[in-house]
Amino acid sequence: MKIHTKLALLLLLLSGFVVLTAAIFSLSSIEKYYYARMMEEMQMQASVFESIIRRYPMHDTSSYEYLQRLAATANHRLTLIAENGRVLLESEVPWSELHRLENHRTRPEVVAAMATGFGMARGYGTATRHSATLNIDMLYFAKRVDPLPVFNDTAHPAVIVRIGLPLSVVNGPLAELRRGIIIASILLFLVITGLSILIARRIANPVRLMKASAERIRAGDLDVRIPVTTRDEIGILGETLNSMIDQLNADILKLRKLERMRSEFLGNVSHELRTPIFAIQGMLETLLSGALDDPQVSRDFIERALRNTKRLNTLLGDLIEISRIETGDMKMSFRYFNLDEFLNSVVAEFHDQADHAGISLLYTPQAATREVLGDRERLRQAMTNLVDNALKYTPSGGMVRIGVEWNDGSCTVRVDDSGIGIAPEHLSRIFERFYRVDRERSREAGGTGLGLAIVKHIIEAHGGTISVESTPGAGSSFRFTLNS
Ligand code: ADP
Repeated sequence: MKIHTKLALLLLLLSGFVVLTAAIFSLSSIEKYYYARMMEEMQMQASVFESIIRRYPMHDTSSYEYLQRLAATANHRLTLIAENGRVLLESEVPWSELHRLENHRTRPEVVAAMATGFGMARGYGTATRHSATLNIDMLYFAKRVDPLPVFNDTAHPAVIVRIGLPLSVVNGPLAELRRGIIIASILLFLVITGLSILIARRIANPVRLMKASAERIRAGDLDVRIPVTTRDEIGILGETLNSMIDQLNADILKLRKLERMRSEFLGNVSHELRTPIFAIQGMLETLLSGALDDPQVSRDFIERALRNTKRLNTLLGDLIEISRIETGDMKMSFRYFNLDEFLNSVVAEFHDQADHAGISLLYTPQAATREVLGDRERLRQAMTNLVDNALKYTPSGGMVRIGVEWNDGSCTVRVDDSGIGIAPEHLSRIFERFYRVDRERSREAGGTGLGLAIVKHIIEAHGGTISVESTPGAGSSFRFTLNS
């Protein structure tokens, strides 16, 4: 069953119950009230008749007929009964027929009125029953009164004044009222039905929309937005779903970007590999097609082929390195080690290369034997890449200086050079894989374009950061932080 059907049914059930209870309650109380009013009226009528008869005693048949007419005008039946039960006046029966009437002593209303006796509370009795005299259902009110002398039986004065009313007179308006209440209840119920359906729709609509959106999402449409129209739990659910969709969209964007980067990387790798392989192939072919005969040319070609194989080797080494870092296969082993000793060894390694290039490589040894925490071999690789770059991109006669600054809980290692520098537009990209400012120059210098990417990975794996400042033509300054 749909949620709005359920809601509507629930509302209907509740309101149906309320309407039914209200109808039954009002019907019964209206009936009670109506009967009470009728009784009151009959009681009043009885008193009126009593006082008329007391004032104008019934002394002949014309006064009998007068009372008959009076009762007919008042729309009531009037009966005067003596204590022995004899009927002395019956407004519905002519004087001449009166003697045919049964004795009324045992009529329930008469019995009741007589039983209660005189005194503070005048006796009265009521009854709703079938009238043997008129053969219809009647409502009776009998009132016991002080003896009212009546001409036809002076020995037995009337002691009961009884007012009768055909039940149909009472029930007619009541039935009408009842019908009115039933019609009003049905109308009310219909209105409530309509309202219940509307309200249920209104409540269930956001849920329905959400369901539709969820189905679209399942079908792969992530552009859907769930309309949020309320601030209640349903609205909050809608907002939550919307932010989940946003999150999903963002994740998909990230995945696409990663995918693009992956294929770009693959393209770059193929390209980088192809260049030296083509070169080697070309040289070997040239040698075979005759150059072998000339020892001078052969030597030159073989040397160049060797350089290219070395280049290939370096490239593959860097590729293996970077893939191990990126797949998380590279295990770091962190230890405290003496930084001064470490930097001295790096400088020693580059001594010849710097000399050869005519560049002064400077490092002022530290007096303090302070230690840093890290993987010494990985950091050596990072330092090697940085110093190697500094030497590669600094012309002869220049200078490369390694320095250390100690901070609280960390230290900054810097590699400054007086080289060609890097233009500002390249600064943010040189740590990307295969990014080079000048491809030819990098290649000539034996670069792979992966060096700085590897350095960045290693430093970040140590929880540090790497940054660069540079002025084209004046030199560059690379710094990274380490925990001490
Ligand atoms: P490469 O193998 O080409 O040197 P790197 O990742 O080490 O690759 O460096 C990326 C690029 O950054 C280099 O191609 C070069 O253009 C620039 N670069 C790196 N270090 C320096 C430096 N010290 N001075 C000038 N340019 C540099």
